[in-house]
Amino acid sequence: MVKKFSLDLTMQDVVALLTPLKYCDFCSSTAVRWRYAPGWLACDECSAIIETEDKIGLFTKTLETFKEKVLGGKNWASMDTTERKEIATGIEYVHGHFWNEAVSGRQEVKA
Ligand SMILES: [Zn+2]
Repeated sequence: MVKKFSLDLTMQDVVALLTPLKYCDFCSSTAVRWRYAPGWLACDECSAIIETEDKIGLFTKTLETFKEKVLGGKNWASMDTTERKEIATGIEYVHGHFWNEAVSGRQEVKA
């Protein structure tokens, strides 16, 4: 007799498992709380920066996150200027889209 395999999941568990993880588009945090149209997601910290329209502050936060999470052990200071400029330009480009596209007013993301 084959024993049936069961995970004993509730419908809420199933929904949570099927819902892709949401990441803050600015710092990759999974603590997403806000949505800006058309589809940008932000955590509390980044949204607070956005709400004050602090473009340099948001750029700095994304860059710091990139250094920490993407570069890992790679030393930013030891990278050549061209490489650092490419990364900064990439962030500037993406943020440019955000500042141009984002419709003012944020909506809380339902958990
Ligand atoms: Zn964030």
